[in-house]
Amino acid sequence: MKHHSITWYLCVAEVGVIYATSITVLITLLLALYVYLCGISPSINQRSTPDRDTMSDLYECGDHQGSLMVCSKGGCFQSWKPPRAHHCSTCGVCRPNYDHHCPWLGNCVTLDGMKEFLLLLYLSPCVLFVGAAPVIRTLARHAISAYHASRSDVWAKEIWWDWLGSWFFFGGPIGRPIFGTLLGYSVLQVTQEPLGLPGQAIEQPLLSIAIVAGIALLMSVFSLTLAIVTTRNILRGQTTVEALKSQSRRDILLFVPQGIFLEEPSSNLSMVPSGRVLRLSYDTRLYDLGWRRNWQTVMQKPLFAPLFPNSRLASTQS
Ligand SMILES: [Zn+2]
Ligand SMILES: [Zn+2]
Repeated sequence: MKHHSITWYLCVAEVGVIYATSITVLITLLLALYVYLCGISPSINQRSTPDRDTMSDLYECGDHQGSLMVCSKGGCFQSWKPPRAHHCSTCGVCRPNYDHHCPWLGNCVTLDGMKEFLLLLYLSPCVLFVGAAPVIRTLARHAISAYHASRSDVWAKEIWWDWLGSWFFFGGPIGRPIFGTLLGYSVLQVTQEPLGLPGQAIEQPLLSIAIVAGIALLMSVFSLTLAIVTTRNILRGQTTVEALKSQSRRDILLFVPQGIFLEEPSSNLSMVPSGRVLRLSYDTRLYDLGWRRNWQTVMQKPLFAPLFPNSRLASTQS
């Protein structure tokens, strides 16, 4: 019997060590991704404008003459804006392969950091779930008892449940039980014994713990939603800013240098000395190489290493 209990103890201790190790590794990876994404700042340093007449690749141009795109915002002073670059008004610079400016990182997200960004988005809810796993049932039990306490409390009934506004304010019918449950924690706290050791806090229904858990849950849902939207954009060969630009329904002008043959309708064409300018529909995805190659382009870069893939147009590859 004694021998049996020692084996049991060793098994439990081992599970504890495995759990503690994996959560530490996950949190460290999450922090590393966050710091990396906050720190990288790919901006366009080499701003010498290339000569249009010697351009051998297709590029998105600014007008029917095939002029190169320039940026006049912030400190850019009419300097050349390469294809897929975009001016970030928050950072005040043009970023190559720009996707969006992330306020949570305080930095731009570009295709060069997209692999890390996507990993951060998918990993955050996973880390939260693994981290909260040992206490999830306790937290749920507390929430249920707080809800029941709130429903049967005279004060909570008067200020919340019987008040007509509870159906309209603080999130309407969805927010009503949530806010009511939060009131329940205050109701329960009145009858609670004072806390002993700090670690025992989880044993009692505490409003502060419930709020932290609620915010973490909301952040996880947000992170997962953003991850799915970003994955879809990657597979479509589009950045967030390109997806938004296509909603403005402004046609795309594409400069095609002499010697490059494309099957194009001649009606949408204007000839210029060194080539021709094509007018393409606003919903044309210029950088779409097919979902498999789009995914590979983003994922081929080693983790934590900045890479500047040349943004070749889809049509030059095919
Ligand atoms: Zn700029
Ligand atoms: Zn920015």
